[in-house]
Amino acid sequence: MEQIYTIPVNEAFEASAADSGEGVHVCPFCRLYKKLECDETELILGASMMEPDTRLKTNAQGFCPTHLEQLFTMGKRLPLALMLESHLEHISEQMKFGMFAAKSGAAASKSLRSISDGCYICSRIEHNFNLMIETAALLWQCDTAFRDKTAAQHHFCLDHFTRFLAAAQVRLSKREFAEFYKSVGAAEAEYIASLKDDVSRFCKKFDYRYADEPWEGAKDAPERTAYFLSGDKVPDAKDKK
Ligand SMILES: [Zn+2]
Ligand SMILES: [Zn+2]
Repeated sequence: MEQIYTIPVNEAFEASAADSGEGVHVCPFCRLYKKLECDETELILGASMMEPDTRLKTNAQGFCPTHLEQLFTMGKRLPLALMLESHLEHISEQMKFGMFAAKSGAAASKSLRSISDGCYICSRIEHNFNLMIETAALLWQCDTAFRDKTAAQHHFCLDHFTRFLAAAQVRLSKREFAEFYKSVGAAEAEYIASLKDDVSRFCKKFDYRYADEPWEGAKDAPERTAYFLSGDKVPDAKDKK
């Protein structure tokens, strides 16, 4: 099942391992997520736009604020407006006014909540992204070259590290998981400790007694921490070098 993701997962790990310059480093899973996000937003305003199946789903699930904003940046205003027109129609249909207004109101409240909490793009990405994380755990289990690629990572963002760890726990035997945590977990712990040192150095620089001490790479420590905590969801994190 996960075989189809072997190539993209390997490629993302290779690209992130090769990206060893200064500043913010992109976690390999963030790379994969971004790629899925790009593909989905392209598809939704392109080939899938007029497919009735897709339309039913976009009507019912809607879009989260992040993805709606992304759709607006794509410059395809007519396909977007057509989709929004049909989405609004679906929303209007949820607002029924029967004989018992309280009952109708309760039903409307429930269905509107599910539209407002949902996102067609998020749910599509999540499905594939989960399989990619499972593939990474599977590759770590059976491919020693992939273990080397994992060891060569600068770090993983917190959310993706947590998910990688959880997938490994499910996929690997107890002994393998212990080995995984000892190597992947230890490298991540080391990164977190070095990030903490950099943030401390950053704070110290605001104390006049240490003002003349060198930054030693700590100048962008808050941005790197934000990236670690939020992954690629941080706006222009990569520009803050
Ligand atoms: Zn990440
Ligand atoms: Zn979304």
